Amino acid sequence: MTLRVQKYGGTSVADIGHIKNVAYRVQKAFDQGDKIIVVLSAMSGVTDHLISLAEQASDSPDKRELDLLLATGEQTTAALLSMILKSRGYKAKSFLGFQAGILTDKISGKARIRDIDCKNLKQAVETGSIAVVAGFQGADEDGSITTLGRGGSDTSAVAIASSLKADVCEIFTDVDGVYTTDPRICSSARKIDRISYEEMLEMAILGAKVLQIRSVEFAKKYSVPVHVRSSFNEEEGTMVVNETKDMESVIVSGITCDMNEARITLKRVPDQPGVSAKLFTSLARAEIGVDMIIQNTRSDNATDLTFTVTQDDFELAREISQKVAKEMDAGEILTAREIAKVSVIGLGMKSHSGVAATMFQALADENINIRLISTSEIRISCVILAKYAELAVRTLHSAFNLDQKK
Ligand code: ADP
Ligand code: ASP
Ligand code: MG
Repeated sequence: MTLRVQKYGGTSVADIGHIKNVAYRVQKAFDQGDKIIVVLSAMSGVTDHLISLAEQASDSPDKRELDLLLATGEQTTAALLSMILKSRGYKAKSFLGFQAGILTDKISGKARIRDIDCKNLKQAVETGSIAVVAGFQGADEDGSITTLGRGGSDTSAVAIASSLKADVCEIFTDVDGVYTTDPRICSSARKIDRISYEEMLEMAILGAKVLQIRSVEFAKKYSVPVHVRSSFNEEEGTMVVNETKDMESVIVSGITCDMNEARITLKRVPDQPGVSAKLFTSLARAEIGVDMIIQNTRSDNATDLTFTVTQDDFELAREISQKVAKEMDAGEILTAREIAKVSVIGLGMKSHSGVAATMFQALADENINIRLISTSEIRISCVILAKYAELAVRTLHSAFNLDQKK
């Protein structure tokens, strides 16, 4: 018998009508004889609305209580779907994250799953129920409710699928699968039939929000077969799987754009050992993840140090940088929030040269200035001004021959 974990995102459960449609899909799979665990997001817009309520309640909402509040979005949809299924004569049972056995660390708002014990879910499906789980949440060892970061229901689903060794984890969303770039930015984007975990991980890290980063990390680590597909039709979507030989023949498989970063530059930092360690240790202590780091060497024993952080972490990162800059007698701090990071990704880059040159030339042809560059074995990223982001994506998409044949 097949065990399927099906995750439905916010637009797929946007209102009662949509949840009723989700129920039909779940019933269909169940009627085929499959065991089904459903993981749900909150209705689209609800998490944002809850955040705005919290901001009205307090200038800096307590993080523990904020998690408790945000988790209610998913609690609502899980309860509603279970009610609908029961009213149609199906056995269903809803679970909050902790009832589904999801134990996390204590980092409110972006908790990581530490352990998962799905015995309750297993028992439910083995006794003929459809298990319906509130995504995006767990509890820490003290029993406090935690949330897994925006888009976290993907991770709930993949974690449950890996724990129960499900045959497939289906991520139902509002597009037909993973595309060569965001189809909402580039109308000639193509659906990819199969993509490796490694490329999908890069795409998620670099801004393709179709899957949350941690869900892909989980899937890769435990080889969970993930099928990204639409909840609005029956089409096959994209399979995220282990790399196969033929995948390397594709030099560039996708383009991403991330508008969620901001740049901080410390001018005239003393050019001596320990300086970077001091700054980045202070940032790490504040749980701030740093993405790109560039250091220029200057002749007068001082350097400029530039790095990027997410927009959420920007204010705190700026405060910390200011403090550290003062302590080490560095110069002024420059910042830019209106930036975008565009990236090209592909396994084939491992064995092909010239990708960077093509990328830089394509951007130059459009007069787009590159502010920062970073590379890995399978991707190249450039930071540009945010106002050029969409143009850059479309330009790179054609430059690497990814456009759909018309
Ligand atoms: P859900 O609410 O179902 O979790 P999300 O909004 O989180 O859905 O993710 C789906 C969205 O991801 C799509 O609507 C699309 O705009 C965006 N997206 C960005 N990059 C890609 C890509 N390469 N392929 C598909 N979708 C993408
Ligand atoms: N509801 C949460 C969010 O909007 C989690 C999710 O949808 O996956 O980010
Ligand atoms: Mg999502």
